[in-house]
Amino acid sequence: MQGFLEGLRERLGPAGFLSEQEAMAPYLTDWRKMFTGSALAVLRPTSTEQVAAAVRLCAAHGVGIVPQGGNTGLAGGATPMGQTPQVVLSLNRMTAIGAPDPVGMVIEAQAGAILQNVKEAAAGCGRQLPISIAAEGSATIGGLIATNAGGVNVLRYGMTRDFVLGLEVVLADGRVLNGLKQLRKDNAGFDWKQLFIGSEGAFGIVTAAILRLTPQTRHRSVALLSLRDLAAALNLLSLFQDRLGEAITAFELIADDAMRLVEANCGLTAPVSGGGWYVLIEASSSLDGLVPAVEAALEVAFDKGLIVDGTLAASEHQAKALWALREHVTEAEARAGKSLKHDVSLPIGQLGAFLGDLSQSLKDFAPSSRANIFGHLGDGNLHTNIILGDTPPALCDVITGMVHDLVVARGGSISAEHGLGQYRMPDWQRLTPGSEQDLAAALKGALDPKGLMNPGKGVVELHPQRSGQVQS
Ligand SMILES: Cc1cc2nc3c(=O)[nH]c(=O)nc-3n(C[C@H](O)[C@H](O)[C@H](O)COP(=O)(O)OP(=O)(O)OC[C@H]3O[C@@H](n4cnc5c(N)ncnc54)[C@H](O)[C@@H]3O)c2cc1C
Repeated sequence: MQGFLEGLRERLGPAGFLSEQEAMAPYLTDWRKMFTGSALAVLRPTSTEQVAAAVRLCAAHGVGIVPQGGNTGLAGGATPMGQTPQVVLSLNRMTAIGAPDPVGMVIEAQAGAILQNVKEAAAGCGRQLPISIAAEGSATIGGLIATNAGGVNVLRYGMTRDFVLGLEVVLADGRVLNGLKQLRKDNAGFDWKQLFIGSEGAFGIVTAAILRLTPQTRHRSVALLSLRDLAAALNLLSLFQDRLGEAITAFELIADDAMRLVEANCGLTAPVSGGGWYVLIEASSSLDGLVPAVEAALEVAFDKGLIVDGTLAASEHQAKALWALREHVTEAEARAGKSLKHDVSLPIGQLGAFLGDLSQSLKDFAPSSRANIFGHLGDGNLHTNIILGDTPPALCDVITGMVHDLVVARGGSISAEHGLGQYRMPDWQRLTPGSEQDLAAALKGALDPKGLMNPGKGVVELHPQRSGQVQS
């Protein structure tokens, strides 16, 4: 191993090779401090050629590679796991951002470029990259692509996948796939880049991407409304879709309990009186007339009795203050004690029944816990977190398993946008049909036959006992 490590140091230089425990520590624990792993070294290449050279050396010595971007992932995907020898390969020195093209509406960035910096570069020429997540000051383009990140603008613009026009990837054997194309249309054969988007580093390392930009919207309108029940929220979503169409950028749900936590733990106050639920709606457009259209939709909603109380931001300052209530839910929850996080999606019509099932099951299994519900209602994506209270730690896995069972029973997904990482792998294996797992494992076998890319995460190797079987 000494020769192997010397070889890495030689290729990457002293700043690109960390092996002291103290220097490596920040790379070995995840953002939530749930997982800590060990590594032979942390590699910090500065170019695609250096990534490829490091991967070739690791492949020759059978050493696993854990790609890492901003380390803001919420599923432990960027933290080494298990006992096999591994290195962390951080992209945090590959941060170059090309000049945006305002006519072609594209921008090129290296994988380690931070989302906020890419957004600022695009805004500099009147374009926008409308991927919006609270971690955008640290999350990287490579990490966003590897997790197919969502966020608050998915309702209008789609997930990260929808922005990727071209990709450069280093494969598990060190070969470089250069697909840095700017094309919106390219049906010349199979679209291989899709395999790497959302596969959490299990198939290869993203080193650069070409991203699609959109025109910058000139007006936005933000409203916070309180509602009696979830049915009213869904009717309101439908009404806004009818009246404002694609101008609806975000439709976020906050349960009354979650809003009370924000008020109690973050010193903020909701400027509307409570119902059972709150929704935060943002509409945006480049065309004039947005605000009167939103006001008219709100009037209809009030007349129909869908809204208990509400406020429409009259300035950018007020709009930010309304968004702050939504953005502080996670922090407020953290201050309320230990919680279990679930990031689930369901067919929108099943959300009410799912929440009913959940409330009943929590009463039965863990009466001292309480649900903290918020999320992207327009996408059917709820953060269904459980604040544990006095619930015994031994019940944590039981509760998570129960939540995931309820989700799958109603046709939902146990990971709407955060990925599997190491956090959700056991339940993914338990709840995913064998035929799907076999397909994922066959792809893994083809792209990474030695199983060295992010071992144990995203996709598992074909299990010997299941090899060749197709289960339903
Ligand atoms: C406060 C907060 C809010 C968040 N909000 C959202 C949200 O609204 N929506 C959402 O989807 N997520 C959200 N996240 C989760 C997280 O920010 C995203 O998953 C993000 O895409 C991770 O980017 P990263 O650069 O930090 O990746 P990391 O955490 O470093 O890595 C995440 C995964 O991608 C892999 N990976 C990283 N870089 C590469 C690469 N170059 N090539 C191949 N694989 C790679 C890693 O191995 C790991 O499996 C939030 C996180 C925080 C802390």
